[in-house]
Amino acid sequence: MDAPETLQKAIATFSDPQKAFEAAVDFRWPGGNVTCPRCGQAKHSFVKTRRLWFCYVCKKQFTVKVGTVMEDSPIGLDKWMVAIWMLANCKNGVSSYELGKTLGIRQNSAWFMLHRIREAMQDTSDMRFGQDGGPVEVDETFIGGKPKNMHARRRYEMQKKFGQIPPKAIVMGMLDREARQVRAKVIPNIRREVLQGEILDQVVHGSKVYTDALPAYDGINMHEFVHETVNHLTEYVRGQVHTNGIENFWSLFKRTLNGTYVAVEPFHLHRYADEQAFRFNNRATRDNKLTDTDRFALLMTKVAGKRLTYAELTGKDTDSVCHPEAGTGQEEPF
Ligand SMILES: [Zn+2]
Repeated sequence: MDAPETLQKAIATFSDPQKAFEAAVDFRWPGGNVTCPRCGQAKHSFVKTRRLWFCYVCKKQFTVKVGTVMEDSPIGLDKWMVAIWMLANCKNGVSSYELGKTLGIRQNSAWFMLHRIREAMQDTSDMRFGQDGGPVEVDETFIGGKPKNMHARRRYEMQKKFGQIPPKAIVMGMLDREARQVRAKVIPNIRREVLQGEILDQVVHGSKVYTDALPAYDGINMHEFVHETVNHLTEYVRGQVHTNGIENFWSLFKRTLNGTYVAVEPFHLHRYADEQAFRFNNRATRDNKLTDTDRFALLMTKVAGKRLTYAELTGKDTDSVCHPEAGTGQEEPF
């Protein structure tokens, strides 16, 4: 099938359960090569009336949701695919309140859904930055902050939600200028071993690394990196040496956090960083004209092979079978 081009068309197309099902199957198993998510075998029969397969090897049935972030969700594919479309394409993110209202589901269910989609957005590539020979910009930023510097609405929302203002969290970001890709990760502190450890792990040795003048980056050139810094007290750009690209990413990220999400617990911050990085890394550029349809299609191919249970998400040992937001444990027809 042709994937829809707009949100409005996506809602119209996927409201037909058969079309939503066919599209999801197409994304998951291109060319119709359906394999069992448990054993990987293709020995199965399809139960058309219930839109599920019975695996002759496992002697169990499976749906298109099994083995994806949608597994066990009581919410239909029609709603899931619209939610995936929205999070892939809305520049400033989608709040659970907004999504709940759009889909006609409870805010809590929408919140869990959005986090499961963020799990799919996670960049799982282990390719190092600097691969194409371009410089890598490295920077760190603080999220959250002093109540007195906070907008009144934000302070109010934070206090209402958490009872107090959560402490600042630190996110470290890297931008491969040649590949136009970012990575962002929550880090515990800005000590030398943490920051330099990340660079050693993530960047091809020998690459150019541009940072600000934070002393914790000093000495990274000992590890074969060509390290140059900009001292933001006196300059922002020195020829090619600057960190404007990653700072641009921070400003987009903070706009999303302050505008759409308002109150984000530090515990969940890395998921919002994954979300922002997904949209940034798949944005349309002059050489790469990605559309909303492309971003949606890409995210649909990433939902498989990942799970996020309610207990994992909340850090609480909730029985996922009994919890209303976590699904019923029953396999849904589609
Ligand atoms: Zn099987």
